[in-house]
Amino acid sequence: MMRLPLFEFRAPRTLEEAARILDGEGGNAMPLAGGTDLLPNMKRRQQVPRTLISLRHVGDMTQIRLDQSASRLGACLTLSAIASDPRFRNDLTALAQAASQVATPQIRNMATLGGNLCLDTRCNYYDQSYEWRKAIHFCLKKDGDTCWVAPGSSKCMAVSSTDTAPALIALGARVRLVSQSEEREVPLADLYNNDGMNYIRRRPNEILAEVLLDSLHGWKSTYWKLRRRGSFDFPVLSVAAAARLSRNGVVEDARIVIGSTASRPLLAAEAAKFLLNRSMNQDSITEAAALAAKIAKPLDNTDFDMSWRKKVTAEFVTYALRELRGDDMRAERESITRYPFGDDFIAIE
Ligand SMILES: Cc1cc2nc3c(=O)[nH]c(=O)nc-3n(C[C@H](O)[C@H](O)[C@H](O)COP(=O)(O)OP(=O)(O)OC[C@H]3O[C@@H](n4cnc5c(N)ncnc54)[C@H](O)[C@@H]3O)c2cc1C
Ligand code: SF4
Repeated sequence: MMRLPLFEFRAPRTLEEAARILDGEGGNAMPLAGGTDLLPNMKRRQQVPRTLISLRHVGDMTQIRLDQSASRLGACLTLSAIASDPRFRNDLTALAQAASQVATPQIRNMATLGGNLCLDTRCNYYDQSYEWRKAIHFCLKKDGDTCWVAPGSSKCMAVSSTDTAPALIALGARVRLVSQSEEREVPLADLYNNDGMNYIRRRPNEILAEVLLDSLHGWKSTYWKLRRRGSFDFPVLSVAAAARLSRNGVVEDARIVIGSTASRPLLAAEAAKFLLNRSMNQDSITEAAALAAKIAKPLDNTDFDMSWRKKVTAEFVTYALRELRGDDMRAERESITRYPFGDDFIAIE
């Protein structure tokens, strides 16, 4: 049985109090939201904070303000709350789809939006018990000095595996970060580094308080996720796309984000730019999908063969763009949970 290490538990009632405690602990404390990632990590000794600061009783952190002109979502909203609220399904479709595909219903009942956005990066050599990691002399990300994925590398390439971050980046979200002495707003796209160890630009004394969205009037969005089991699994490739189309179907603005193929979600800016002022026909979709897939560089440190994941990226972008132009994609959605890729499908044992 894996046991939690000893820790001190604090349960502040206000954001100010939480920020003050976090600041006072000087890097030895971590915020605890649903605990669905942090507590297993502590059991595996991947993260060993001296103090946990629970955000569950902090007032206001579960608010939902959905408005035509702007929306605010509290960081402690559970993923179940997002997935089950019909208000999210129209303007924020990609977010609702992403939230509803995280883990299992039980986990989504505990898991929060903020925790999902701050999720630790993942790797087959890291997400293991302490004894397993010790047997391979640990790795660069924690307690060791070698990266087992790229032994010559001085950089960790653990994978960003959050479902909601690509969706919210496609929707143009910003986040409000609060510390004891200041608060700041940053575009969610700028919150992440492409570095498996130093993957987030949130300072250790900052709390992600809420997610902010400008008006999405006229935008459509979608989220596509590749995982081994349709019932629950982390993404090993995801595509979030959002577009504003004119009445005659010309793209006025677009964002495409590739998730789970690097240590951060990747904005496919060239592909989105290519679509501007074009109709989404077969040719433009094929070209945009090829441009978007170019930036995906999956490595051999998660589920499925990496070259196959790279190969199907363009297909996933194609599905997402076809859905945005109005195609009925129910059959494709159904089929990707049953691995329709025939002989191309190669699983890692
Ligand atoms: C079996 C299983 C399957 C899973 N499948 C998926 C999946 O398919 N997709 C997916 O995306 N995730 C998955 N997860 C991971 C996890 O459950 C979710 O990412 C969840 O949303 C994390 O939220 P949480 O509130 O539980 O975060 P916690 O575990 O409480 O925290 C996670 C991290 O975020 C930090 N944090 C939390 N809230 C804040 C805040 N407001 N401000 C600053 N820092 C904060 C914590 O300090 C910690 O570092 C899975 C987990 C399990 C156990
Ligand atoms: S990519 Fe390398 S350093 Fe990073 S977690 Fe995996 S094995 Fe460790």
